[in-house]
Amino acid sequence: MRPSIVTAVFLSWAVAAACSCNASAAAPDAFAAQRLHMVESQIVSRGVADPRVLEAMRNVPRHLFVDRSLWDRAYGDHALPIGYGQTISQPYIVALMTERAQVSPGDRVLEIGTGSGYQAAVLAEITDQVYTIEIIEPLARQARDRLRALGYRRLQARTADGYFGWPEAAPFDAILVTAAPDHIPPPLLGQLKDGGRLVVPVGPPGLVQTLWLITRHGDRNAFENLGPVLFVPLRRR
Ligand code: SAH
Repeated sequence: MRPSIVTAVFLSWAVAAACSCNASAAAPDAFAAQRLHMVESQIVSRGVADPRVLEAMRNVPRHLFVDRSLWDRAYGDHALPIGYGQTISQPYIVALMTERAQVSPGDRVLEIGTGSGYQAAVLAEITDQVYTIEIIEPLARQARDRLRALGYRRLQARTADGYFGWPEAAPFDAILVTAAPDHIPPPLLGQLKDGGRLVVPVGPPGLVQTLWLITRHGDRNAFENLGPVLFVPLRRR
C-alpha cells in the first residue's frame, strides 16, 4: 500500500469511542443522500457526536473536492487521491480531528495542509475565522478557487511551509495539521492561545504515526494520544 493513497486512514477504531455560513454548500444536490449515509455509517457510528461537526459534514459537498472521475467514490470510507501524490483524508478522520480540536463558532483556527480544501471547508462551516496553508502551489491555487466558488469567502489561504504556522494571524484557538511531521513543530505550539488545542499526527514518513491532541495550559502542555494514523509526510522546503 502506498502511503500517499492510504493517507489519514485511521488504523484502529478503538479510539472512536451554529453557524452554517455557506448557503451554496448547504443546498441539496444529487449526493445529499450519500452524505447523510456517510455521516451516520462512518462518523456517528464511530462515536463522533458534536452536532456542529456532524452538521458541517452533512453540508460540505465532498465530491466537489475530488476529480469528477472519482465522484462515485467520494463518500466512501477512505482517503482519495487529489494529485501531486497527496490525498483528501478519510471522512471519519476529518470529523474526528475537528471534534477533538473543539472548534466553536468565532474560534480562530489554522489548518496546515490545505490539499483539496475539504477540511478547511468543514472548519469554515463552524467558524468564520479559518486560516489554511499549503506548500504545493498548484494545489493551493485549485483549493482557493474551489473554496471561493463554494462561497467560503472569509477563509484565508496562503502558499507556504506550514511548519512555521501563520505568526501574523496568531494566536489560534485550534490548529489542525493534516500532514505528519516527525516531531511537533515548536512554532505551532507557540501560536496556540492559552487553552488552545493542536491536533497533529507525528511519526516517521510512510509508517504508522500517532495522532496527538495537545492542549496548552499556560506554559505547560497536556498530551492525549488519539491513536494510530497514516498521513502523508509534512514536507520541508
Ligand atoms: N487537509 C487536506 C488533505 C491533506 S493531504 C484535505 O482536506 O484535502 C496533506 C497536504 O499537506 C498535502 O496537500 C500536502 O501538500 C500538504 N503539505 C505537506 N507538507 C506541508 C507543509 N510543510 N506546509 C503546508 N502544507 C504541507
